Amino acid sequence: MRPTAPEVRGAEPAGVVVVAGVSIGPTEPIRVIAGPCSVESLEQFRETATAVKAAGARLLRGGAFKPRTSPYSFQGLGREGLEIMREVADDLGMGVVTEAMAADEVALVAEFADMIQIGARNMDNRALLDAAASSGRPVLLKRGMAATVDEVLRAAEGMAARGCGEIVICERGSRTFEPSTRNSLDISCVPEVKLRSTLPVIVDPSHGTGRRDLVTPAALAGVAAGADGLIVEVHPEPDVALSDGEQSLRADSFGEFVASVRRMARAVNRTL
Ligand code: PEP
Ligand code: MN
Repeated sequence: MRPTAPEVRGAEPAGVVVVAGVSIGPTEPIRVIAGPCSVESLEQFRETATAVKAAGARLLRGGAFKPRTSPYSFQGLGREGLEIMREVADDLGMGVVTEAMAADEVALVAEFADMIQIGARNMDNRALLDAAASSGRPVLLKRGMAATVDEVLRAAEGMAARGCGEIVICERGSRTFEPSTRNSLDISCVPEVKLRSTLPVIVDPSHGTGRRDLVTPAALAGVAAGADGLIVEVHPEPDVALSDGEQSLRADSFGEFVASVRRMARAVNRTL
């Protein structure tokens, strides 16, 4: 049975979340949050940010604390990464979305970021969710790779109960038996979350597919399904990226990507 009223209520009116002056929600233009998986250097981040801004993005993503499955993988620049993102975002007049991995990291991340990302591996980390909810920053809550829609809504509800109204849900794919993609992007999650909450929903076609050649079609499917935005990995030289190069769009092709998303947005009566 479908609920007659939303189970999880976000910010009023109509669940619009504002990040660094950029409004995300069903009444707003489609927002594209873009940047590298990891912040690698000032030059790499500035080059990426300049390219995505030129294509129309107003919010930057980038990882300073990276939740890498292997201990041999690049773990991020930490505080230096946060400083780089803030410096570049301020220079370009953009906002920063970045992940905090632990409750005791939240205050530091909140100092530099405009929105705190909770990664898929941490959706169930109650102490982290509580710290993010109390940080005063909007939160991007990524659905866990083995979490049901109900579970991600309950995680959001827990943060809402702590007074955090500014929550955006991100569908980033689930781990399934399908080996051709890194994860299986659950497009129906988008309208389902919207039926059951007033929270904005965005789609991550980068982690959702793990493949550059699938990022655009997956992004378009997300927008067609009603997503309020996208979070996309972009790198000036994906072949030498320290993380997730294989799923990163090339910075010089990001404009083309945005043009495709804009056409789909128009088809579903949205703007970008
Ligand atoms: C990321 O956004 O870089 C990331 C690690 O995503 P996820 O938590 O969805 O794997
Ligand atoms: Mn990544």
